[in-house]
Amino acid sequence: MSPIDGLNLNKIAPGAKDGTASEALAHVLLEEVIGAAEYHIDLHGGDFGEILYPFAGYAMTGDADQDRRGEAVARLFSPTMISLSREGGTIPPFPGSLNYSASRRGVVSILAEAGGNGTLEEEDVKLHLDGILNVMHHLKMTDRRKEAQGARLRATDRFVMRARRSGLVHIKVAIGEEIVPGQIVAEVCNVFGDTVEKIQAPRDGIAGLIWAHKVVNTGDPVVRCWVTEAAGPFQFS
Ligand SMILES: [Zn+2]
Repeated sequence: MSPIDGLNLNKIAPGAKDGTASEALAHVLLEEVIGAAEYHIDLHGGDFGEILYPFAGYAMTGDADQDRRGEAVARLFSPTMISLSREGGTIPPFPGSLNYSASRRGVVSILAEAGGNGTLEEEDVKLHLDGILNVMHHLKMTDRRKEAQGARLRATDRFVMRARRSGLVHIKVAIGEEIVPGQIVAEVCNVFGDTVEKIQAPRDGIAGLIWAHKVVNTGDPVVRCWVTEAAGPFQFS
């Protein structure tokens, strides 16, 4: 969130030439930088307060050739899961993001998420680096490549579990864990340590985002899950 205009650069694309600072930045990035490329990877590292399950996403356009290249690059980048979004769907990249706008300009633009909580973890950095090398290798930009990656899962939906009661929150699941219906994903306690709420999963999913806060207010999100299916085979060229 920019402190200058209170806007999120990744929610206001394509921006505006004569708009606020963030809108002008989005416009210039799309016009002069991303729009000048054939391929684009938007590297995300997990904000303060959120722990992410790694994935790569691409916003489908309806152009068969471009979408095939987008899926190829997303699969090569991500070790496990891809998120191919469609108009009006519930999975990213969404309209307003740089990826979505770039793909509408004919750029094969993927979203790459790995990391969490604003920390610099070797494993997260490696995931990004391996993904970049595999994509560059696919595009014949380098001889280097990492051990075979490639998505095994494809996202179809996602859902959020929220606290109904306020208090201290204890997360009971790990990022990437397979969640079953009825499983307790977090407990909320009062200041005396008494459990006031057990937050249960309504359906199957994979823990995809854990909000790393220590306390919650009523309605705060706690865990978000991905709903997935097998990604199936894919012809890369
Ligand atoms: Zn992100």
